[in-house]
Amino acid sequence: IAIAPEQIQDEHLILTAEQQHYLGRVLRLKQGDRFIIIIEGQGQWWIVELIVNLPSVSPQAKLIETVSIQTELPVEIILIIALPKGDGFEEIVRCCTELGVTQFIPVISKRTLLKPSPQKVERWRRIATEAAEQSERQIIPKIYDPVSFPQGLLTLSTFKSNTQSSVQYIFESRGNYQPFMLELMSIIADKIPDKIMIATGPEGGWTEEEIQAAISMGFQPVSLGKRILRAVTAPIVAVSQMMGIIEH
Ligand code: SAM
Repeated sequence: IAIAPEQIQDEHLILTAEQQHYLGRVLRLKQGDRFIIIIEGQGQWWIVELIVNLPSVSPQAKLIETVSIQTELPVEIILIIALPKGDGFEEIVRCCTELGVTQFIPVISKRTLLKPSPQKVERWRRIATEAAEQSERQIIPKIYDPVSFPQGLLTLSTFKSNTQSSVQYIFESRGNYQPFMLELMSIIADKIPDKIMIATGPEGGWTEEEIQAAISMGFQPVSLGKRILRAVTAPIVAVSQMMGIIEH
């Protein structure tokens, strides 16, 4: 389970009521049983042991030893996603977290139909945490509050640095652009960049002005093939292709 750093004091763990319910009632763990935690923001996994039967006053567990696993990709993947309608973004967050994405910037583009509530954003963050736990990630991806597409582009520009290399792609289903996979393979043949930033559109696609705004910020338009993918499918396919190329 994911633990906030402030839940650890003197090598002991203070569980929330929700975590106690999950460990004690759902998993039926008892005093002396061990489980694994990930400390948010530190990328560190620990084996911990229950020192009481749950529910109980804190602390309820003690840290035993760290677990050394390395499951992260050697590159930061940052997605700028024009929010799809309905629960589409939940599916994107779940699958792309499993695949290794590090940051999500949800944006409201000209043709975005969804009006996200703060409760939705909280739900996306919970989904990212659960997916990161399930995939044994070292980090829980960050999900930004939704912003307009131009603001999202500005946020992305703050990720660029003089010391780290980055590449940026915007996905467009029309326009006969180069296949994303070929572009990425030619970049990676030289050196794996530190950051890959990609942008995918909503059901109605990007407007021409949005494509041009992205190009002026250094994005290269690319294709995922001749078939038009759903707004939910496109980022998942793009990240799967990246993962396949980068890890092998
Ligand atoms: N009617 C829209 C259009 O004509 O562009 C279709 C949009 S598609 C359902 C949603 C988004 O997924 C697109 O804006 C694009 O970012 C991405 N996408 C879908 N299929 C794609 C493809 N074959 N190549 C590149 N991007 C694609």
